[in-house]
Amino acid sequence: MEIILSCIFCRIIDKQIPASIIYEDEKAVAFLDIHPINEGHVLVVLKRHEERLSGLSEDEAGYLLKIGRKLLKAIQESGIKCEGANLFLSDGPTAGQEVMHSHLHIAPRFEGDGQRVGFIHSDPAQYPRARLDQIATAITDKLARPDKFETITQPTLETKRLILRPYRESDLADIFAYASHPEVSKFVPWEAHIAIEDSKKFLDLVKLSTRTIRDKLYYVFAVRLKESGQVVGSIDFKNVNPCIGQIDYALGFDFWNKGIMSEAAEAIRDWAFENLPKMVRLQAFCVADNVGSSRVMEKIGMTREGMRRKAFVLKGNPVDLIDYAIVRDHEGR
Ligand code: AMP
Ligand code: ZN
Repeated sequence: MEIILSCIFCRIIDKQIPASIIYEDEKAVAFLDIHPINEGHVLVVLKRHEERLSGLSEDEAGYLLKIGRKLLKAIQESGIKCEGANLFLSDGPTAGQEVMHSHLHIAPRFEGDGQRVGFIHSDPAQYPRARLDQIATAITDKLARPDKFETITQPTLETKRLILRPYRESDLADIFAYASHPEVSKFVPWEAHIAIEDSKKFLDLVKLSTRTIRDKLYYVFAVRLKESGQVVGSIDFKNVNPCIGQIDYALGFDFWNKGIMSEAAEAIRDWAFENLPKMVRLQAFCVADNVGSSRVMEKIGMTREGMRRKAFVLKGNPVDLIDYAIVRDHEGR
């Protein structure tokens, strides 16, 4: 059953209504404006529905402009009349935002196009330096205080050999390939995948549980080898509470003992400490017999804190767990 979306841009993104799409990637879409100011007038939107610019993360806001710049270059080279361009974003109905899904306009301009940017400047006498400074202070006061509701979205991280990115439907065959190996699921609560349906269920679960709600995050990253493009495992990050982050991972059997998971875990560690200022502890644990997993945690600088005896029932058998963690302000962080 198709769910009819109420937002017109979400419907375009979901291909429910026609649009002349000129660009699409995993995060953004760009299409021609249905009522162009000039030929080649394009709108860039993020796939995630968000009404206002302030609701976007720093990365998302930057991404809009990054794609806008790329598209402007293509427009300029396409033969469309484009001597210059206005890039603008109307934020809020008062500022002329009609479609409440934040978007960046790219409007080509040329001499004699009959368009104009219609602002009326105020009388300079109204704004002596003292008044300007007063206004500046009102803004800088807010800048100094970090926005506690700053939205963070799941990033894509890159290391020497890997790309860590959100899962895609097209990863299904790769997921099945690594998750169907009995060794891979030996020390984790889930069973080895027997049919591709099991991998589908995993993907659905990932989709359902991925979230960014204020201080609560749960991100599952597909670990993709740059060289072959293959997804060989997964690593997830969640914050148990704003101060404590936790990672869990699984890696395809053929890729063990190559430092792949420590390379991935290191990237998540650095991303988390950098982007979550409240996080003071990053933890992980594994079944005591899982030597490979312990090695990953040690390699990324975690300290072994102890063993919880018979603390987990793994596929019917009580097992010991080993706890590891790295904390901020010690251990070089
Ligand atoms: P704004 O006033 O900044 O919210 O801009 C909304 C823009 O979306 C306008 O320039 C409209 O022409 C454009 N628009 C509305 N509906 C569609 C659509 N179905 N396809 C393409 N552009 C659209
Ligand atoms: Zn929308």
